[in-house]
Amino acid sequence: MDVVETLAALETWRAATTGSLGLVPTMGALHEGHLSLVERARIECERVAVSIFVNPTQFGPNEDFDRYPRDLASDLALLERQGATMVFTPTAALVYPPGFSTWVTVEGLSDRWEGASRPGHFRGVATVVLKLLNLVRPTRAYFGEKDYQQLRVIERMVRELNVPTRIVPCATVREADGLAMSSRNVNLSPEDRRAAAVLFRSLRLAQTEVAGGERDATTLRMIVEKSIAAEPRARIDYVAVADPRALEPIGRLEDGGAVCCVAAWVGGVRLIDNMLLVPSGPGPARRSPSHQP
Ligand code: AMP
Repeated sequence: MDVVETLAALETWRAATTGSLGLVPTMGALHEGHLSLVERARIECERVAVSIFVNPTQFGPNEDFDRYPRDLASDLALLERQGATMVFTPTAALVYPPGFSTWVTVEGLSDRWEGASRPGHFRGVATVVLKLLNLVRPTRAYFGEKDYQQLRVIERMVRELNVPTRIVPCATVREADGLAMSSRNVNLSPEDRRAAAVLFRSLRLAQTEVAGGERDATTLRMIVEKSIAAEPRARIDYVAVADPRALEPIGRLEDGGAVCCVAAWVGGVRLIDNMLLVPSGPGPARRSPSHQP
């Protein structure tokens, strides 16, 4: 496994690399969620590149950039074992040289939910991901559905800017109690770690309601809010029931369903999660066409 630190070394590596190439962009402190992306890339591509870069421009001034977990030695050992071909570990000065002034903004899609709570976040994400795609020039790039809005933002950026990389969404990997794996979970105290499972439980509750025929988005949102609010250690940032592509709020679930996205503070850690709410059959208010008057 090659460890590449500079742009010149990356260019040399890329020029010497043939065949299909998968890229897994990460901020390190790797867990099973990240490794599942690497595994998928390994199955689908001849070579697998992983980037590890805690991107300063996607953190707000009062966010956890300094507290974000970092463990490069452990990450490299995990990636070697997982069969990565190359790991790119640039410094912030290489990615953002002095005077850097070009930013990518995916308008509209970036404005709500995470974008509203974290102004500038998606501008930082889109900019660094486009740079990584341009530098590595992968055939495919792998992103987790755990960061649902991020995935949609990147898909749209790649489509609208004609980036010749296929974006591959990957399912969220969870702990035994349902908590979505996240590098930030190590910052939870044992009590907060137990309490954090409330996010998954609340999303499942909404899914169960949809399976039982509920189609009203406000009702579903309130069920999730009430369930999270019942956990005294959790403080809701937002609960959204939205169109799964445009991420605009909806009134009712139609056949395409919805995505429920949540963000909440548990102790001092901000966690996000989401779940697709897909009606499996006609709800109670709908009739099949043959029964319609
Ligand atoms: P991060 O290091 O948090 O920026 O994540 C790097 C990539 O891994 C992103 O595409 C994330 O969506 C993805 N990812 C993070 N956590 C998970 C998880 N629990 N399951 C699947 N993918 C994940």
